[in-house]
Amino acid sequence: MPDPPADLGGAVTSTLYLGCAMVDHITRSLAPEMAVLVADGRVEWLGPADQAPDPGPGVEVVDAGGTTAVAGLVDAHSHLTLPGGSHWIDRVGDPTDRLLATAEDNARLLRQAGVRWARDVGAPVRDGRALSLTVRERWQGRPGYPYIRAAGCWVARTGSLPSGLPVEVEDGDGLLAAALGQLDAGADLVKLYMDGPDRDTSPFTAAEVRRTVEAVHARGATVTAHSSLLPGARAAVAAGVDALEHGFRLDAEVARAMAAQGTVLVSTLAVMESWETFGATTRLPRFASAEGRAALAERREAAHESVRLASAAGVLIAAGTDFGGGSLRANQLAWEVETLVVAGLEPCDALAAATVNGGRLLGEPGAGVLAEGGPADFLLIHGDPLSDPGSLWRVWRTSW
Ligand SMILES: [Zn+2]
Repeated sequence: MPDPPADLGGAVTSTLYLGCAMVDHITRSLAPEMAVLVADGRVEWLGPADQAPDPGPGVEVVDAGGTTAVAGLVDAHSHLTLPGGSHWIDRVGDPTDRLLATAEDNARLLRQAGVRWARDVGAPVRDGRALSLTVRERWQGRPGYPYIRAAGCWVARTGSLPSGLPVEVEDGDGLLAAALGQLDAGADLVKLYMDGPDRDTSPFTAAEVRRTVEAVHARGATVTAHSSLLPGARAAVAAGVDALEHGFRLDAEVARAMAAQGTVLVSTLAVMESWETFGATTRLPRFASAEGRAALAERREAAHESVRLASAAGVLIAAGTDFGGGSLRANQLAWEVETLVVAGLEPCDALAAATVNGGRLLGEPGAGVLAEGGPADFLLIHGDPLSDPGSLWRVWRTSW
């Protein structure tokens, strides 16, 4: 007779995942037929399946044969309250209840896709506060929900973004006050918008940004900069920001400076892959017209070259979808990993961008890492992510 199900005798607190392959980031190889013992949310043991501890009573055994266990993914650039799609910009004006319902949908999509951590880098303000901060607080401690770090609202020079979306400022004093205001509201980090109303000029000088960076650092928080153009990237990096979002137009000099001072590049290349699909799935001229397609192809090539420059310089690259603030959906981080490989990264490095590097960006050593003693946050996929980045689409289940 088989043993009775463990949950008849009390709550299962331990689970043995038996037979999954595992990624070894040090040897950059896949180890087949491994096992992971989880107890109370921690990895109590991991090693070869044939050396796994005997599961006692109360240990649930999961036959994970044929899967690969991957550390819970980190989406380093997301917008939790927004849905994405080809009308992503319009959705910013949705009523508060709709935005909160969208966030709930996104939580479900993130879990199904194996995303354990999401870094929100901009949300609409409702009742005087960025809605992402409310969502982060609602989800804290709720089983199955992602862990959140949130930047609050965008801080931008007037005229850079549609009016009403960011906190708009006119100068360096305004920048500093708005950045500290986001921290006062509860933001974990500050997001500066470093594309200006004039594409050829940075919206703030390096000195202005540096003053804000120093003040935010003094409060124990970090500063990141939206940058899709070179002038803003130069000023932000010269000012010592902690990360650049997108970084679609870097040059070798900026990449070297980023590597030297530890500025992280948060890549969002798949946004342009998604726009390319809109050439077929929509009639929006920006994507479907011949001029639109040509402009996109040029932009895409510049962005891929920027990632190559950053990678060659030794910049830490973390992967983001930009879901909601761009056109991707919350369950599409695999698309960014695939696109990083298309741009020239080794699959192992692209996987690191969506896992451990995101954890380093967040200052969370357990995030994106699957190791004995660490949090038991992993997903089981089908395939070898070291040779087939598309395997990240094939999520069977997650451990949380
Ligand atoms: Zn974004």
